[in-house]
Amino acid sequence: MRVEMSWSIMQWILAAMSAGFVGRAQAVCKAVPGSSGWPTPAEWATFNQSVSGALLQPPPPGGVCHPGEPNYNAAECPAVVTAWKTSWTFHEDDPISNAFNNWNNDSCLPYAGYPCSGEGYPVYVVNATTAEQVQAAINFARENNIRLNVKASGHDFLGRSVAPNSLSIWLHYMNGIQLHDSYKPDGDVCECETYGPTITFSAGDNHGAVYAAANTIGMAVPVAGAPTVCYGGYVTGGGHSILGARYGLAADLVVDMTVVTPDGKIVTANACKNQDLFWALRGGGGATFGVILNMTMLLHPDEPTTEVIWGAVDLLPNATNFWDAAIYAFTQYPDVIDQGLAGYGSIFPGNANTSSVFGVLWLGFNLTSAQIAEMLEPIEEYVKQTWPGEFAFSSNITNWSSFYAYWNANPDRSTPIGVDIVVGSRLLGREALSNPSLKEYFMAAGPPGGVNQDMIAGPGVHNKPLGLDSVSPAWRTAYSHTTTGVGWLPLNEAQEQEMLSNLNGYVEALTALAPDAGAYVNEADPFQANYHEVFWGENYPRLLAIKRAIDPDDVFWCRACVGNERWQEVGNELCQV
Ligand SMILES: Cc1cc2nc3c(=O)[nH]c(=O)nc-3n(C[C@H](O)[C@H](O)[C@H](O)COP(=O)(O)OP(=O)(O)OC[C@H]3O[C@@H](n4cnc5c(N)ncnc54)[C@H](O)[C@@H]3O)c2cc1C
Repeated sequence: MRVEMSWSIMQWILAAMSAGFVGRAQAVCKAVPGSSGWPTPAEWATFNQSVSGALLQPPPPGGVCHPGEPNYNAAECPAVVTAWKTSWTFHEDDPISNAFNNWNNDSCLPYAGYPCSGEGYPVYVVNATTAEQVQAAINFARENNIRLNVKASGHDFLGRSVAPNSLSIWLHYMNGIQLHDSYKPDGDVCECETYGPTITFSAGDNHGAVYAAANTIGMAVPVAGAPTVCYGGYVTGGGHSILGARYGLAADLVVDMTVVTPDGKIVTANACKNQDLFWALRGGGGATFGVILNMTMLLHPDEPTTEVIWGAVDLLPNATNFWDAAIYAFTQYPDVIDQGLAGYGSIFPGNANTSSVFGVLWLGFNLTSAQIAEMLEPIEEYVKQTWPGEFAFSSNITNWSSFYAYWNANPDRSTPIGVDIVVGSRLLGREALSNPSLKEYFMAAGPPGGVNQDMIAGPGVHNKPLGLDSVSPAWRTAYSHTTTGVGWLPLNEAQEQEMLSNLNGYVEALTALAPDAGAYVNEADPFQANYHEVFWGENYPRLLAIKRAIDPDDVFWCRACVGNERWQEVGNELCQV
């Protein structure tokens, strides 16, 4: 009996070992330079011919400041150091640069005394300008088991457009914009609706270029805070904007897409063709279901825009009263948003050198200054009467001929560039904002960088049917995309851990406030627990099923993305779990 048992245990161990051995012999990790599956130089050369010489092997952009790197140039280094932290365009124009250092593992910063290697970056890049080049890159990555990366602007806060040991598809020069008076997508399972004014643009056309084109006919498109953001990542995440409160998320406004799928085919996706893919691409994340070559979006007339910089400063610093007043104002914002305003707010508890302030940059369309003042007056009156003499309100009003005029003159100047950063967020609706303990939750959250309130989800987002696309259902009741960010010094692991822990505390406190509130996938913490559920809520099972059907071999993989469960990053490699 004992012998028999030992024998069966031995058999079991042998079976397990041989299963492991077979597993290792198969593709356990994606190929990396030096591994047996990595293509030979001759194979890369042949591939380069197949993409008409568009294959690049770019050095890390920070190498300009490091003797010994192929792009070292002492004369150019100071300009790179400046651009690194000031210019979105610098990072967008480079084939592999990403705007936030931590996603490259700080592997090559343009500073003396820091290390520099290309190990945090893609190895090869296809500078794609045609659909055929995108197809060839996807096919080559799939056939050779190579990690695939997709970069448009490189502005992603979750680092999803840079990947070590990868072949990257760089879309920056895939351009082409077309305006249409009316547009009818090509359907097959049904007859597509004919839409009114629309715009078709390509994967490399950034918001500045697309809005400039729409503006030539007096029309508006949803846009991010910075003109360098592209639509691939923006739309696949949802895409919020000031115009969203009026017309919907960017994803809600797309009516047609051309996509290269993981099997290398070019397909059209719209309400009457490849409907599942169309649904998934509008909210289910970038670089997951394929590469979008171009998309067509509804346009709306641009309207006279009023900008109101409104807020209060605490004259008699008292932390309790400050939070009471700031939170009271926050609870009133949904009413203001329902009356037609949208804006970016913040609660900034001061310190020894700066005053405590709360306020909002409000924007309204076709509203007079007097109408806006009337909306905000009840909040001011309540605060003044409840805490007499403690808060001074101010309101600076500017009238713009259109939202384009405002937006063009006011690009995002507050988001830091070229730093190590992670953002945390929650989409808060009326229920959360009317919680009687709201202040306690926020104080418990101890927001490391203050509280940012993006109030960009008004009636235009709420009035869309649930399930129209795959964005988190939390958007349909949200009023505030409430965020904070943490940063740390490059390569300072202790500080990084401390900051990530602070961020985690903030996210957890807001989760306790609103357990079902989702987070906006493009501006959120990829390290939080249950991120699939947090980013996509009840849409996740359908998204996962679509991912498995369209990409059974996981040609596309990215951090915190749909269907990424079967692989994990192990150092700079991507390996099966
Ligand atoms: C300064 C600044 C302001 C911002 N303002 C806003 C804002 O107002 N509203 C808002 O909603 N967001 C905003 N964002 C966040 C923005 O939505 C994300 O950074 C988004 O990921 C940018 O998309 P991208 O394609 O430009 O970036 P990338 O970093 O190039 O790509 C982001 C992701 O999309 C994938 N991807 C890109 N193109 C394609 C494509 N054609 N097909 C398939 N996958 C693709 C990439 O692989 C990656 O996973 C802002 C970001 C910054 C840095």
